[in-house]
Amino acid sequence: MKLAKNLDRLGTESAFAILAEAKKLEAQGKEMIHLSLGQPDFKSPKHVVDAAKKAIDDGHHGYVLASGTLECRQAVTRKIKKLYNKEVSPERVMIMPGGKPTMFFAISMIGEPGAEIIYPTPGFPIYESMINYTGAKAVPYDLTKDKDLKFDPEKILSLITDKTRLLVLINPNNPTGSFVEKPAIDFLAEGLKKHPHVAILSDEIYSRQIYDGKQMPTLFNYPDLQDRLIVLDGWSKAYAMTGWRMGWSVWPEKLIPHITKLAINSFSCVNVPSQFAGIAALDGSDDPINEMMKKFDERRKLIHKLLNDLPGVEASMPGGAFYIFPKVIGTGMDGSEFSKKCMHEAGVAIVPGTAFGNTSKDYARFSFAASNENIEKALEKIKKMLK
Ligand code: PMP
Repeated sequence: MKLAKNLDRLGTESAFAILAEAKKLEAQGKEMIHLSLGQPDFKSPKHVVDAAKKAIDDGHHGYVLASGTLECRQAVTRKIKKLYNKEVSPERVMIMPGGKPTMFFAISMIGEPGAEIIYPTPGFPIYESMINYTGAKAVPYDLTKDKDLKFDPEKILSLITDKTRLLVLINPNNPTGSFVEKPAIDFLAEGLKKHPHVAILSDEIYSRQIYDGKQMPTLFNYPDLQDRLIVLDGWSKAYAMTGWRMGWSVWPEKLIPHITKLAINSFSCVNVPSQFAGIAALDGSDDPINEMMKKFDERRKLIHKLLNDLPGVEASMPGGAFYIFPKVIGTGMDGSEFSKKCMHEAGVAIVPGTAFGNTSKDYARFSFAASNENIEKALEKIKKMLK
């Protein structure tokens, strides 16, 4: 069987392979604490589940528009107005089967040989994978140059050439948990005005998971960029809904016919009861988010302290999301050796830095979507392992 060449260039998300390996060890009787998964360890809110059940009972079993139901898109625009005081037409909104398909489609639409796409490293691995898949040149900006693993807007602007077609931003970032605040985004947005040929894909999936009462500096705030801005967000992280496969994205008007065609050519429309659940999540109380964030904040401080107490490990405090990305090379092991040892000796599953790009081999990602007890137990086991 002969396969297409570009398949060789497609990468993956290693967190899934690590989960599979950890589960295999568990099945063989090894005790395992999972700090590798990028999903909240909470149930979806009850009113969300009830809305989906009702949609099934009420007979919402058929196809709907490829862009999503008008009601669901309107719920998205209501939320954007409420959160950011920004009016967006529901015609610019796409309901997607998760956050990831927006990356897949946006990069397929824009990337091709000869084009350049700028993206963060370490960063969510699907970006690099998709850029390579399209044959575009992957142009990374390195977050490890900064002690808090934040991006430098000046550096990003310096990478733009006349071949640049797309800039990817992830804020807050996975895997680093770093959060870039408004002054740096203002600077970047001002600089981007001089490069009207560059589209922007702003991954804001962790926009509801920011600590210390800080505000999300959404790219919606910059009117000059709107006609070339794609914003990716969704329900997975904010509402503990990873398995529902619900995401949304807002596109420039001129891209809507293309993204709609790509949707029709692939998934037709998103699961309809999930869209009812999505409306209930957006229109319902934010109490479940606030409760979850209180827990994440406690865990963030706990894991930050426990990691920095380990000899040879240094971690900066995450400003968002539920990941911390310590430098572990001081233990005498790089991120891969350290992660392997954690899994096989200590029984703690984490993800090596190289899963997120090749400048972060000295790092490893810990997800703190786990109870305080499990975080304490995991770090105790790693402490023993390092002795
Ligand atoms: N963007 C980032 C930065 C992520 O970390 C993730 C998931 N880990 C996604 C998008 C995709 O989310 P979803 O599960 O909704 O596809």
